[in-house]
Amino acid sequence: MGDDLTTGGKVLPITRWGTPVMHNQTRPVEKFDDELRELVRDMFATMRAAQGVGLAATQVGLDLAVFVFECPDADETVHRGVVCNPVVTLPNRRDRNLDSTEEGCLSYPGSYQILARPDVAVCTGQDADGNPVRVEGTGLLARCLQHETDHLNGMVFADRLSTRARRLLTKQHTELAHLYPDDWPVTPRRSSASED
Ligand code: ZN
Repeated sequence: MGDDLTTGGKVLPITRWGTPVMHNQTRPVEKFDDELRELVRDMFATMRAAQGVGLAATQVGLDLAVFVFECPDADETVHRGVVCNPVVTLPNRRDRNLDSTEEGCLSYPGSYQILARPDVAVCTGQDADGNPVRVEGTGLLARCLQHETDHLNGMVFADRLSTRARRLLTKQHTELAHLYPDDWPVTPRRSSASED
C-alpha cells in the first residue's frame, strides 16, 4: 500500500445476515481508484470499532469483492492488509489439519459456534493499487481468510454449520441481539443489563 489505508476512515453501520447483499456473489473490483481507497479506510475504521479481525465489503452493504483484515496468526503475529478479488487455496484433503474452534461474525453479533476449518490457508488477489498479493495464514488468520472470502462468495459461516449448531447459534444471537443497536458500531454496543 502506497499510503496508509488503515487510518482516517469513518465508521459505517454493519450489515446483518438476511440482507440480500450478504447472500449473493459479489462483483469483482476492477477500478483501483480513490473511491476504493476511501472504502478500504472506512472498512478498517468499522472493523476496529467493532473489535473484529476481518471485514468484507458486503458487511458495509456493498457487493464488491474486497475485504480487510487485522488478525493474529498461530504465533500471535498480527497481519493487516486488504485483498481484492480473493481466491483461497487450502491444502489437499490428505494433508489437511482441521482446527475446531469457535467462529463468530460481526454481521450476526453475540454468537459463536465451533466450526472445523483447515488450519492453513493461502489467499491470493490484489491490493488496493491492483498489485498482486498473497497472504499465507495460520491459526486465526487462516480462519479469517476463509471466512472473509466466503462472504464475498455470498456465504456466511452458518451455511457451513450442522442444523443443530445453526439452531444454537440463532438462539444465542436472539438472546443478545438487543445489545447491538441497528447502526452498530456507529452507536456502540449497549452494556449488559446489570450495568444499565
Ligand atoms: Zn463474517
